[in-house]
Amino acid sequence: MENLEKAIQEIKEQLPGMTLLENEPMSAHSSFHIGGPARALAVPSDLTGLTRLCAILRENHVAPFPLGNGSNILFPDEGLPDLLLLSTEKLQKLFLLPDGAIYAEAGVSLSRLAAFACEQGLTGLEFASGIPGTVGGGLRMNAGAYGGELKDVTDSVVYYYLPEQMLYEIPAANCMFGYRSSIFQKSAGMVVLSAVFRLQPGSKEEISAKMRELGEKRRDKQPLDLPSAGSAFKRPEGHFAAALIDQAGLKGYAVGGAQVSEKHAGFVVNRGGATSKDVYDLMMHVRNTVYEQFQVELQPEIIILPPDYTLVDDTPAPKRNLVIGN
Ligand SMILES: Cc1cc2nc3c(=O)[nH]c(=O)nc-3n(C[C@H](O)[C@H](O)[C@H](O)COP(=O)(O)OP(=O)(O)OC[C@H]3O[C@@H](n4cnc5c(N)ncnc54)[C@H](O)[C@@H]3O)c2cc1C
Repeated sequence: MENLEKAIQEIKEQLPGMTLLENEPMSAHSSFHIGGPARALAVPSDLTGLTRLCAILRENHVAPFPLGNGSNILFPDEGLPDLLLLSTEKLQKLFLLPDGAIYAEAGVSLSRLAAFACEQGLTGLEFASGIPGTVGGGLRMNAGAYGGELKDVTDSVVYYYLPEQMLYEIPAANCMFGYRSSIFQKSAGMVVLSAVFRLQPGSKEEISAKMRELGEKRRDKQPLDLPSAGSAFKRPEGHFAAALIDQAGLKGYAVGGAQVSEKHAGFVVNRGGATSKDVYDLMMHVRNTVYEQFQVELQPEIIILPPDYTLVDDTPAPKRNLVIGN
């Protein structure tokens, strides 16, 4: 706490131009619209600002939490009084490299990236056009949809490694991409800065038509009118989380303002005034019920903060805590 306060003071003195939001409600930065105030949210406007910020944090032994669009995170109601979040939202460079690959900084939205690829007549990113995340958050999660994943089109990634205050560029083959996982989940000290994406030439009309088709599918199947963080649980091997939740009779089940979507059982939505505890308790109930009925363990896809979040689970046996998978 002392270290964090000292770091905040130094950021104000040494980087006066940097956006530093203090005691910032995280509900304003979460697609769930949930979350109390974090001690600070720093938003560097470029890579130089980011590295200078990281140097101050490192000297004060403060580990920041990287933030993209907040479309896959459940922030706690009580806030994060001892956490500094580092947003990469202003890293927005996006251009075509001479060899035809695409360079994108961490804050570029996946929709903008997909639209840019389409404009260039490059195919392979159509699946990403409706995912409401950024390049940074997307790479950390290896975001995917409709049979595509970022790992399929990523050539290399540049990240800042806080413990060493160094920039590294690694090829996609070394990113340990798996289903909704990557090497960037192994250490909180790895902040994704940019990536190069390699795509195939294609017809602009066909790419655009595919994006429209997938967009319609999303609007048709997903509860996009209500705040959520996308799929609440990962796909268990050999099953579909949404189908199991539906078969367990949980569609529409609610705890306070949180509800298993009536439109898509894989989504937990904030139908108004949901607290983080509502969402957590609902997810616990879903997980326990599905386990009791099908002996399948659902793992959360949503990142639940803080990782040592402890709530008393008073549901009947089998008692299981949500394992923070990320
Ligand atoms: C309506 C809806 C639909 C969705 N559909 C899909 C879908 O089809 N497929 C899918 O995969 N996901 C989907 N999601 C979930 C979410 O959009 C993705 O996981 C997305 O990749 C998260 O990106 P983000 O920028 O919002 O990351 P955040 O939610 O801000 O962060 C996610 C994780 O990434 C880390 N992170 C963020 N930026 C960086 C960075 N620069 N460097 C290192 N780590 C970073 C954070 O610390 C956190 O651990 C959906 C969500 C919603 C709300």
